[in-house]
Amino acid sequence: MKILVLNAGSSSCKYKLFNMDDHSVLCQGLVERIGDPTTGALTHKIAPDTDKEEKIALEEPFKDHAVALNKVIALLTDKDKGVIKDTNEISVIGHRVLHGGYFQTTPALVDEKCKKTIRDAFPLGPLHNPPNYTGIEVAEKLFPNVPNVAVFDTAFGMQMPEEAYTYALPKALSKELQIRRYGFHGTSHIYLVNRGAAFMHKPLEQFNCITLHLGNGSSLGCAQNGKCIDTSMGLTPLEGLVMGTRCGSIDPAIVPYIISQKGISAQEVDTIMNKKSGLLGLCGQTDLRDIHRMADKENNADAILARKILIRSIKKTLGSFFFLLEGKVDCLIFSAGIGENDAYVRSQVVKGLEGLGICMDQEKNATRSGDERDISTADSKVKILVIPTNEELQIALTAQEVLAKSKS
Ligand code: ADP
Repeated sequence: MKILVLNAGSSSCKYKLFNMDDHSVLCQGLVERIGDPTTGALTHKIAPDTDKEEKIALEEPFKDHAVALNKVIALLTDKDKGVIKDTNEISVIGHRVLHGGYFQTTPALVDEKCKKTIRDAFPLGPLHNPPNYTGIEVAEKLFPNVPNVAVFDTAFGMQMPEEAYTYALPKALSKELQIRRYGFHGTSHIYLVNRGAAFMHKPLEQFNCITLHLGNGSSLGCAQNGKCIDTSMGLTPLEGLVMGTRCGSIDPAIVPYIISQKGISAQEVDTIMNKKSGLLGLCGQTDLRDIHRMADKENNADAILARKILIRSIKKTLGSFFFLLEGKVDCLIFSAGIGENDAYVRSQVVKGLEGLGICMDQEKNATRSGDERDISTADSKVKILVIPTNEELQIALTAQEVLAKSKS
C-alpha cells in the first residue's frame, strides 16, 4: 500500500510518499514560494537517505497550490524517474491539519462535515488551517479517486481530562470563545508514546511516559495508560516552555502592562511574544548550537543565562508532569532537534533526579546516533529514551487506520 502525506502551508507544500509494506519513503519533496508570480522552487528526492537517492531541483513560479501539486504529480508519475504509474496507486492521502477545533477529537476521513470542522477552526488556527484546507481541496480535485484523511495536530491534547484542559476563566466566556488547552505537536507526541511503548515492550494501555519534543518550537506531553493527560502548550503554541522565538508561559498581566506602558496594540504584543522572545529575545540567537558556542567559547553572559532559563523551564514542566503521574513513569522520551541531538540539554534536564529513579548513563547520552535508544543506566527505575520523531510516518499510519475503519 502507498500513502501520500501532504503538509500544505501558506506558501509551501511538503510531501512524502510511503510504501507502507516496510514504511520506506519512496520520495519526498518541498515546494516553496507558492503564490510568488516571479519565482518558486521545488526540491524532489527519490529514495531519500538511501544509496539510491536522486535529487531533482526545479526553479519556476507556482501560481497556486494546484499548480504546485500538479507538478508534484508529474514528478511522481514521470516515465523515467517516477515511483508510481498513476495516482490511483495511492491508497489514501494523509493531510496534516493544525486545528480540529473544539469538537473534533480524532482524525477523520475528509467529507463535507470534516471540511466544515476545519473551516470552523480557522479563527483558532488562522495561519495554518486555511492553507491546510486548500491542500485538501486541491488534492480532492487532482486525485479524484483517492480518499483523504485529515490528521489534526490537536488530537493528542483532545484526549485530556476536563481538569487538564479547562482554564480558570469565567465558564461562559471560555464556552463562547472555545477557549481551552488544545496542545500542539500532537502527531509527534502520539508517535513517541506509541514508539516508547513498543521500545519498552509494554501494552500501550499500561504505559506511562513524559514526551519531550524539544525543537525550535517545544512542548512536553504527559501520557497515562497511553493517553494524554496533560501537555504544555495551550490555546495556542505560545504557552509552556521557553522556545526559539516564543516566550512560553509568562504572567498574563505582563500583556496589558506592556500595552499600557508602550501604547502598542495587543497584536504587536502577540508578535513580540511569538517572534521576538524566547532564546532570541534573551540572547539574540534561536539556534541552540550558536548559543552553546557563545556560552562556552565566548563566555557570553546573555547566552549563558538564556540556556539556564531554557533548561529550567523544561525541568519545571517535567517535574509537574512527574507529579501528575504520581511518580509512576515508565520513561522519559527526548525528541526533535534539541531532544535528539543535544546531549548537554538532556543531561542538565535530568541532573540531580537520581533520587526519583531517573538515572542517566552519561556515556550513552554522549554517543551520537540517529537510532531509537535507551540512555539511562541499567538500574534506572525510569528509563530515558531518545526517539527520533517522525510526524509524516505517524500521519501515514493514522490515515491507513482511518481508511481501514471506514471500510469495515
Ligand atoms: P522545528 O521546531 O523548527 O522543527 P527542530 O526540531 O529542527 O525545530 O529543532 C531546532 C533546534 O534543534 C535548534 O535549536 C538546533 O540548535 C537544534 N539542533 C538541531 N540539530 C542539532 C544538532 N545536530 N546538534 C545540536 N542541536 C541541534
